[in-house]
Amino acid sequence: MGMINVFQPTLGEAELAAVREVFASGWLGRGPRTKVFEADFAEHLGVGAEQVVSVSCCTEGLFLSMELLGVGPGDEVVLPSISFVGAANAIAARGARPVFCDVDPATLNPTADHVAEKLGPRTKAVVVLHYGGYPGDLVAIAELCRERGVPLVEDSACAVASQVDGRACGTLGDVGVWSFDAMKILVTGDGGMLCFRDPELAERARKLASLGMAQSSGFANATADAEARWWEFEVTAFGRRSISNDVAASIGSVQLRRLPEFVRRRREIAERYDQGLSTVDGLRCPPPLPAGHTSSYYFYWVRMDASVRDAMARRLYDRGVYTTFRYAPLHLVSAYGHEGSLPGAERAAEETLCLPLHQALSDSDVETVIGEVRAGLAALTAPSGSSVPTVSSFPASRP
Ligand SMILES: *Cc1c(COP(=O)(O)O)cnc(C)c1O
Repeated sequence: MGMINVFQPTLGEAELAAVREVFASGWLGRGPRTKVFEADFAEHLGVGAEQVVSVSCCTEGLFLSMELLGVGPGDEVVLPSISFVGAANAIAARGARPVFCDVDPATLNPTADHVAEKLGPRTKAVVVLHYGGYPGDLVAIAELCRERGVPLVEDSACAVASQVDGRACGTLGDVGVWSFDAMKILVTGDGGMLCFRDPELAERARKLASLGMAQSSGFANATADAEARWWEFEVTAFGRRSISNDVAASIGSVQLRRLPEFVRRRREIAERYDQGLSTVDGLRCPPPLPAGHTSSYYFYWVRMDASVRDAMARRLYDRGVYTTFRYAPLHLVSAYGHEGSLPGAERAAEETLCLPLHQALSDSDVETVIGEVRAGLAALTAPSGSSVPTVSSFPASRP
């Protein structure tokens, strides 16, 4: 029997046809299809095409953001401890200090209060993500940041189709960053997108992403100006090479058209998990979305007593159901280790398991997962002598 994957992309003939066209065009690098994908993605977000910049991956987008916001030595950047490690690396690589805030163990997102507690005179930026695609306390956090004059970066890797009151996650702050890596919902192999509130910052991002060279097309110059030396260039910033390419972009445009269908299927699965698991004593399902919030349903997670979580993960694995936990708290990673505890993040990291959630799961896969989780909990919490794990702190989320 095959393993039920926790994440899995959906790619098929339509994507292959798009790639075939790129091959036939003879132009694989950044070119017309990248421009089309950027325009498509901008439309999807409801922003202008001049505000978005495609990049090689989301991590690179996070590194670029920190540079563009002027984060440097002596600065602090506040982010939840439950964050993707690349966000903290992007801060530390600038010589700045990541300052970790706590999260609500039910949503695994920080509240505005969690962020506010960590703001100080040295805070140069705030970076938040939307755990599992759930927008969290985003409106209040964006407002807090605006009040304090601190730019907000939304790591929107989980939130490609998430919205708050009709506004796309990633557009409520100053910078949004998306990932199209192989484990995301919209997949291009590797790839990412940046969106800037300020089009001028987007222009600087384009330059930095292309070795710091002022953008000019050799062909265009040669055509327009008979005297042109089209091989010469101007360097205005010491940039890296963070650009994407037309192969990835051609896949991206197809995946973007399929995205609503992907999210619809993911929502259906999440609702079935809710039905099958929320009435089980000893399990907690994700809290309902607040009014006006939509999720991309990137993760579906359950919480259980910490004393059974690891054994549950192992048991499910042995029975063909792969689970995981994202994202291990960064304040406990040795490179970032801080004195002091963040009880919400620590609790979430001990109690939470991310269950398989992707659009290729069949109904019978979903029933298998539900059955195995229920059976696992019953087996692991059955009274057996002196070591009876307690589930008293976990009444069913919906009695
Ligand atoms: C996957 C992920 C990233 C990294 O994306 P890459 O494109 O692989 O660099 C960043 N942040 C979050 C929240 C992610 O889930």
